Amino acid sequence: MKWNEFSDWGKKVADWAQDYHLTVRDRPVRAQTEPGEVLNALPAHPPEQGEALEDVFRDFEQIVMPGITHWQHPRFFAYFNANASAPSVLAEFLTSAIAPQCMLWQTSPAATEMETRMMGWLRTALDLPENFAGVIQDSASSATLAAVLTMREKAMNWQGNSQGLFAQKPLRIYCSAEVHTSIDRAIWVAGIGQDNLVRIPVHGDWRGMDPDALEIAIQADLESGLQPTGVILCVGGTSVGATDPVDRCLKVAQKYGLYSHVDAAWAGSAMICPEYRHYWAGIEQADSIVFNPHKWLGVQFDCCAHFLKTPDDLVRTLAISPEFLKTHGKDGIINYSEWSVPLGRRFRALKLWFVIRTYGLEGLRQRLRNHINWSVALHDRLAAEPDFRIVTPPMWSLWSFRYEPEGADDLDDLNLRLVNAINDDGRIYLTQTRVDGDLAIRFQAGQFETTEADVMMAYDVITEVARGL
Ligand SMILES: *Cc1c(COP(=O)(O)O)cnc(C)c1O
Repeated sequence: MKWNEFSDWGKKVADWAQDYHLTVRDRPVRAQTEPGEVLNALPAHPPEQGEALEDVFRDFEQIVMPGITHWQHPRFFAYFNANASAPSVLAEFLTSAIAPQCMLWQTSPAATEMETRMMGWLRTALDLPENFAGVIQDSASSATLAAVLTMREKAMNWQGNSQGLFAQKPLRIYCSAEVHTSIDRAIWVAGIGQDNLVRIPVHGDWRGMDPDALEIAIQADLESGLQPTGVILCVGGTSVGATDPVDRCLKVAQKYGLYSHVDAAWAGSAMICPEYRHYWAGIEQADSIVFNPHKWLGVQFDCCAHFLKTPDDLVRTLAISPEFLKTHGKDGIINYSEWSVPLGRRFRALKLWFVIRTYGLEGLRQRLRNHINWSVALHDRLAAEPDFRIVTPPMWSLWSFRYEPEGADDLDDLNLRLVNAINDDGRIYLTQTRVDGDLAIRFQAGQFETTEADVMMAYDVITEVARGL
């Protein structure tokens, strides 16, 4: 394909994308294909000669699209939404056209300086203090890994990278039982070991850890000659929105000089609304905070905001500066590749700029408030049905329920069958979780084009499908 044919195809793709988004509501949300269907439709051998783009595009529609689960569907109520709002898709189109690799300031000064400014905008939007600096990471998992490596290096007096962990007494990291699996993986990758991830039990409606239990665990480790290293808190856990008492837990972390990281990957976006900030009161004491604009803020995947009180600690942990990567003669520049595990970096700040400017903070707040209010209204309706039980109450727009008709036995099996039947029906998409060992069905609303009617349709589908089982 030649570049002088690009514009024709670009227009076709733009038309296709607009039509897709305007009609996606009519498609089943979760892909209705069987395992192997797409694989078998793709030839086993690559073509020797180039093919016409028409043919590739036709196969895209016929082979690929039926195997897509529609994450941009307004009735996608599973997991957490990964919103791709129209302005962020346009920004990504531009980014892929210019395709800069933004590892250093000089490899695209605009990307670095836009990133600094956009992280400043987000800090203001969340009302975080000005002493937090920010960097865009590819994912919350990467940000958490960077934070855990920083904890490790700090606790080891910056010797871990050079000497390894062999002579080191066990490093201990504390979190609740509700944290995301990305915490476990960061602990594995950092060489700290799963056995040294200390799970503090949770309690109450927020399913947060008990700060007294946290302190007791730290003291017990100190008495046993282990090395307390860091505390990881959860604000809006993935399963049911678990949220630790941030203020009291961070005070314990500070008392023992432990580095703290707060995972608010999903719920962090809601903090653009002042009325939800009490959920993380005390957040200014954290060393590291992560949230994903690529979830609830409408910024095309991937875009993860990572705030740091002392970026020097992170840079000291991750920066390697061989001669060929140095930028000489420029003071005060930032090379963001020194702030993350991967060296290469995409220009992710551009889509933040497009989204924040076109919606405005007020437009974004209104969307989140709608999602939360509609979700709570749906919760209230289902709570009034005698054969349904609310398992966990709304945390922002996330809550969970169980179908418990009179006389039914094996409720786990019944609810697993229910969630599968709902997803086979196709009008909505839900996922299950476990709460205190019991299977529960999650509901959350967060898609940018969802309407009140979309959310209320979930009531019809859930009750109809359940009672027809
Ligand atoms: C989604 C999520 C993550 C993982 O985010 P990635 O960006 O996919 O790594 C981590 N923690 C929580 C609470 C999440 O909801």
